[in-house]
Amino acid sequence: MDERSTVNAEQYAVTPHPSPASAEQRATLMAAPIFGEVFTDHVARATWTPDAGWADHRIEPFADLTLHPGATVLHYGQQVFEGLKAYRWADGTVRLFRPEANAARMAASATRLSLPALPEDDFLASISALVSVDRDWVPSEGEASLYLRPLIIGTEASLAVRPSRRVEYMLLACPVGSYFSGGVKPVSIWVAQGFHRAGAGGTGQAKTAGNYAASMQPQQQAQDHGCDQVLFLDAREDRYIEELGGMNVFAVRRDGSVWTPRVTGTILEGVTRASVIEPAALLGPRGRRT
Ligand SMILES: *Cc1c(COP(=O)(O)O)cnc(C)c1O
Repeated sequence: MDERSTVNAEQYAVTPHPSPASAEQRATLMAAPIFGEVFTDHVARATWTPDAGWADHRIEPFADLTLHPGATVLHYGQQVFEGLKAYRWADGTVRLFRPEANAARMAASATRLSLPALPEDDFLASISALVSVDRDWVPSEGEASLYLRPLIIGTEASLAVRPSRRVEYMLLACPVGSYFSGGVKPVSIWVAQGFHRAGAGGTGQAKTAGNYAASMQPQQQAQDHGCDQVLFLDAREDRYIEELGGMNVFAVRRDGSVWTPRVTGTILEGVTRASVIEPAALLGPRGRRT
C-alpha cells in the first residue's frame, strides 16, 4: 500500500470555521455531553489517489459530507476506524496515550481492508493539528476528555468490486464525559448463542465497521436477556472466550493472576489490553515482581 507523504501538523492547511461555537454555546454543549453526539468545530482530512498518494492534508470546518451515492464505502464497506482520547492535564497541556499504537493498528486494519495505510506521521500530525485549532473543546474536569475518531473510507464512485481508487481520511473529535459516570459499576455479560464475532482469516483483527454491524444483533440478544454486554466465543469450537462486542476481556482469578485470550487473528488487539499485559508480565503471575 502507498505510504508516500509524511507531513507535520503545520502542513495541515487550516480553513477556519466561519461561525464557530461561542464560548457560551461550547460550555452548554460540553456540560454533559452524550457520548459521540457533540462534535468540535473542525475536522482533519486527507485524500488518497493512486497517482498522488496521500495528499491535500487539511483542517476544515465541520460539515456534512458530499459523497457520490456510488461511493465504494456505501456498497462494499471499505472502512476502518480508530478511537483514542486527548486529556487535559492539570498544567493545561493536552496529552495522548500511546497514539502511535493506534496509528499502527489503523495502518494494519487498512491493509486488511485493501485501503491505503495512512503514514504514522500523518496520523499523529492530524491529531496535533485538529487538537490545536479545537483546543478549547478539550475538557478540563475530572475524567472528561476529547474522544478522537479517525476513519478511512473508500469514496470512489464505482460499483465495481475492487479496492477504491479514491480514499478519504477524516478525524473527528467529540468532548466526552467519564466512561463510567457515577463510578465503575459491574456489567452483566451474555454469552452469544448462534453468533460469532469473527472467524479464522476474516476481519476480526481489523477495526472495521462491518464487525460492529455484525455485533448488533447478538448485542440485542444480550439485552433481550437482561444483560449489558455480549461475549463472543470462538467460531471453530464455540467454546473459548474471545472478546466482547467492542472491547477485550480479562479475568482475574482468585489467586490474583490475570488471564486474557491469546490474540490469534480473530480478536482485536487492544491498546488497553497491551497496556495491561505489558506491566502485568513484568510483575509475574501473582502480581509480584519477578
Ligand atoms: C477498539 C476495540 C478494542 C480495543 O480497544 P482499545 O481502546 O485499543 O483498548 C477491542 N475490541 C474491539 C472489538 C474493538 O473495536
